[in-house]
Amino acid sequence: MSLLSVEQLGKSFGGVVAARGVTFAVDAGKLLAVIGPNGAGKSTIFNMVGGQLAPDTGRVVLAGEDITATPPRHRWRLGVGRTFQIAQTFVSMTVAENVQMALISLNRRTRAWWPAAGALYRDEAVALLERVGMADNADRPCSELAYGDVKRVELAIALAGTPKLLLMDEPTAGMAPKERAQLMELTAGIARERTIGVLFTEHDMDAVFGHADDIIVLVRGEIIAAGRPAEVRNNARVRQVYLGGTEIGARPSSQAAEAAQP
Ligand code: ADP
Ligand code: MG
Repeated sequence: MSLLSVEQLGKSFGGVVAARGVTFAVDAGKLLAVIGPNGAGKSTIFNMVGGQLAPDTGRVVLAGEDITATPPRHRWRLGVGRTFQIAQTFVSMTVAENVQMALISLNRRTRAWWPAAGALYRDEAVALLERVGMADNADRPCSELAYGDVKRVELAIALAGTPKLLLMDEPTAGMAPKERAQLMELTAGIARERTIGVLFTEHDMDAVFGHADDIIVLVRGEIIAAGRPAEVRNNARVRQVYLGGTEIGARPSSQAAEAAQP
């Protein structure tokens, strides 16, 4: 049984078909990338899996349980996590405090809310920060961090919820190429060691072809190709529709793409 099964999802906005007959699965410990041109429906699908958007048709099934009508907060408790930008109100707090807040919230220790929380979940927070390479910055305010480092903290915050499935909508947007590769490398490593399934959308083809186990290609709300990176890269329709015939993902940025080839 797959961790996540998406079956025949459909969604229209007025006359615009944002998703139609979208069916795919994500296995535990695997990374599935959703790619496609702007307006293809990537975020729409993402939001239907996260519960922010109700589908017109189809089902979202998590570990065998139909969660199509489950509100986002409950999905979160069932193990559907997503990365969020650190809210502006929290940037004055330290890196560790932001992760501690996520841990406190998860464990429903609402009466011990900040600032009384002090050392609550401090060790757990630092352990998560260690995993994302940010333990040395634990006591700095988030406002002082470089952009790429903020993204690492956001990943630690998402991990604080011990997700089974992690949703990342364009996680590397706005990052420099080297930072992008590092963040994807980190995400892939954590997903594999903790057997978290990751569903991500990306514009950056190096990130996609270097790290995804499987890729689905959306055009105008419909899946036109799906498979391993090597299969998708060589798919004539993908090349034509998506990138005007040029070869895509020709420079995989890590061994993951090689490993994924049959
Ligand atoms: P992507 O993330 O692939 O760029 P989206 O899922 O954001 O694509 O959008 C898919 C299509 O649905 C686009 O034509 C977009 O304009 C439309 N759309 C998305 N969200 C809404 C909305 N809330 N209201 C109306 N149209 C929307
Ligand atoms: Mg989008």
